[in-house]
Amino acid sequence: MIQLRLKPGREESVRRRHPWLFSGAIAKAEGDGSDGVAEVVEASGRVVAHGAYSPDSQIVARLWTFDGRVPDGDLFRGRFAAARRLREEALPPATTGFRGVNSEGDGCPGVLLDVYGDVAVLDLLTAGTEVWAQQLEKAARDVFAPGELLVRRSGSTRDRGGRPPSPPPSPPAGGRGDLRPFLENGLHFVADVGGGQKTGFFLDQRENRARLRALAHGKRVLNLFSYSGAFSVAALAGGAARAVDVDSSAPALELAREHRRANALRAADEDFVAADVFDEVRRRAAAGEQWDVVVCDPPAFAKKRSDVDRAARGYKDINRVAMALVAPGGWLLTCSCSGLVDADLFQKIVFSASLDAGAPFALVARQGAGPDHPVSLDCPEGEYLKGLWLRRA
Ligand code: SAH
Repeated sequence: MIQLRLKPGREESVRRRHPWLFSGAIAKAEGDGSDGVAEVVEASGRVVAHGAYSPDSQIVARLWTFDGRVPDGDLFRGRFAAARRLREEALPPATTGFRGVNSEGDGCPGVLLDVYGDVAVLDLLTAGTEVWAQQLEKAARDVFAPGELLVRRSGSTRDRGGRPPSPPPSPPAGGRGDLRPFLENGLHFVADVGGGQKTGFFLDQRENRARLRALAHGKRVLNLFSYSGAFSVAALAGGAARAVDVDSSAPALELAREHRRANALRAADEDFVAADVFDEVRRRAAAGEQWDVVVCDPPAFAKKRSDVDRAARGYKDINRVAMALVAPGGWLLTCSCSGLVDADLFQKIVFSASLDAGAPFALVARQGAGPDHPVSLDCPEGEYLKGLWLRRA
């Protein structure tokens, strides 16, 4: 265990139970951090918190306890069990794909666990939690009892706060990735747990897919940044007349076809477009296309603070053109998963895009991630996903 002594005057954040301890707050470090445990003491010597130690990160420790308890296997089991109960109470029926443990939101900073049917993927996001891998794996097996447990060690390279960046999509080995089936609201999906993005699927959009399904009947849907086309599957299941997926990743579009087949839904070649969305929307807008529903769910444009201005321009640009593609009376679901672009800023950007597009929209609903992505009040940074449901006048 390593002891991290706070600089005088830097106690406030820990007193407020904020789980991120920044290296700039540390006056002195003493001891051996090889077991991954950091003990935080105030200048007075009083012990105030314990957490996972990440020596090379700006966030030098992610704090798990504020009551003197030293993180161990029992603590992990208890936190995982509480997380599991929340899912049992709050998830919809016929849903076997969900985030089982959501890092700070479940009191487990630096740990994600995604469940896809029989398989669970444990993702260790920080150097400290990597050191605890064995105990965390055991807790995951004990509590979630998956048929198979896969472990990703995204580790210290990801340990930089906010939403961890997804690794770039890599083509699945041998043409197919490691595909694991699961259900979401009764629909069949697969997560590509090997070569896919995130742990293989964007579980955080479940609520938005359900909303889309509920309003899609008879509508034509343009799904931008589609990844494996899950929004289109939800729309078609809700009776959409047509849904077109646009993504730059060919393997993702292959999965999108597979998803439609698995749900016995229409899958015409022209419904899958491998292209850069920025070019594609311009081309379609220039051709005068109009859609009943446009979904715009790009990757995080801002991964660090210095990206925010550029990200804002990117969001404005894509939204302006997406808005031009929405028919009067039609819908735009526009999303941002950049934690650094907060809800207020995102709404302002979207407003400014609608001015430039000359298209008035009403905000009908805000919908972020579902109940399997809880956000700790102590760590509001965990709320990264914003979805605005806009209706064109
Ligand atoms: N809406 C998806 C998740 C989108 S993730 C879902 O619900 O599952 C973002 C996607 O954008 C990724 O699949 C990535 O391949 C794609 N992407 C990133 N930049 C792109 C670009 N410029 N043009 C097209 N697709 C892009």
